[in-house]
Amino acid sequence: MGSLSSFKIGRVVFAQALMDNKLMLMIPGPTPIPEKVLLAQAKHPIGHRSGEFSEIMGEVTENLKWLHQTQNDVLVLSASGTGAMEAAIINFLSRGDRVLVGSNGKFGDRWAQICQAFGLDTQIITAQWGKPLDPADFQQALAADTDKAIKAVIITHSETSTGVLNSLEAINTHVKAHGEALIVVDAVTSLGAYNLPTDELGLDVVGSGSQKGYMIPPGLGFVSVSAKAWKAYEQATLPKFYLDLGKYQKAAAKNSNPFTPPISLVFALQTALQMMKAEGLGSIFARHDRQKRATRAAMRAMGQPLFTSDAAASPAVTAVMPQQVDAEQIRSVMKKRFNIALAGGQDQLKGQIFRIGHLGFVSDRDILTVVGALEATLFELGADGSAAGAGIAAASKILMAS
Ligand SMILES: *Cc1c(COP(=O)(O)O)cnc(C)c1O
Repeated sequence: MGSLSSFKIGRVVFAQALMDNKLMLMIPGPTPIPEKVLLAQAKHPIGHRSGEFSEIMGEVTENLKWLHQTQNDVLVLSASGTGAMEAAIINFLSRGDRVLVGSNGKFGDRWAQICQAFGLDTQIITAQWGKPLDPADFQQALAADTDKAIKAVIITHSETSTGVLNSLEAINTHVKAHGEALIVVDAVTSLGAYNLPTDELGLDVVGSGSQKGYMIPPGLGFVSVSAKAWKAYEQATLPKFYLDLGKYQKAAAKNSNPFTPPISLVFALQTALQMMKAEGLGSIFARHDRQKRATRAAMRAMGQPLFTSDAAASPAVTAVMPQQVDAEQIRSVMKKRFNIALAGGQDQLKGQIFRIGHLGFVSDRDILTVVGALEATLFELGADGSAAGAGIAAASKILMAS
């Protein structure tokens, strides 16, 4: 064996080729992809104006509505999640419009940046990173707005950078009491992981992206649009062309697209949505909840401090703030020794936390694997916060209880 095909950690020699083919993505996007979905993409593209493709678009659109629990339009864009977020702003607002933005992490910050880039009068409601937004702050700002100048309340449901699930339901109650403002939601890591009944809650604009709960590769963005949001669209004057949702709505009514869609990704989406329907929304949400609880119990048993409270924990990602060992060192050993990719901290949390993604195509076995590998890694790095196997025992107890 030459040096290129193998490497050594301690006394153990590893075959590079084997490790390369065993990558395990435990990051909150891109997420793992089922084999069926990968194979669906391998087909020849077909014409996007063909009857065959139009039939697929019809099926996909119906199933997207099912996933969003809505009768609203759900439009498909060739964009990452941020493109969907930008579309959610520029289609419904005008320069100088007043908006309330919740920000308690990197993606909340991104909302504020988009609003500021388009010249909106942006009031930011913050919370410390790792803590949820306080609905009372929204209540206060909305109640004070007696002349109804606030056009939209914009929040991130699951804040992926910290693993916090913001209380969309409570914040939305205050938006409904205001009566005028639209509620605009980044649901990129909550859709397909947590119950998000769009119509029941009256969510006006919901944005998401394909590489998260959808179990397909990056490249598609999704935006659902309520009747109230379409009314706002009629008044909105921010410039738009490629992301003009009116074009997508018109095309979608004919099971079509305004521009050439990424056809292979639509094949993947068709298969992934069929798989999700077969599993059922209730089972999907229960699986994410179970894996979240198992991951958190394991970290506790291993003496690894969780970055968020149980009450505000995201179903998609668990952030851990290790004390005795460097977070980046943990990620490095996990990657090199086990070929398991964990996410690091972003912005001010860089080097402070590591994040375990449990979103999309993740099985209970994956949770046991990542917990076991983390135990071995912490042992290797000299962190002796717990008895060997304590994490596995805690995770197993939760996974096997349901
Ligand atoms: C991943 C993600 C996005 C979108 O990021 P892209 O890189 O543009 O796909 C937006 N919001 C949240 C909360 C996310 O996790």
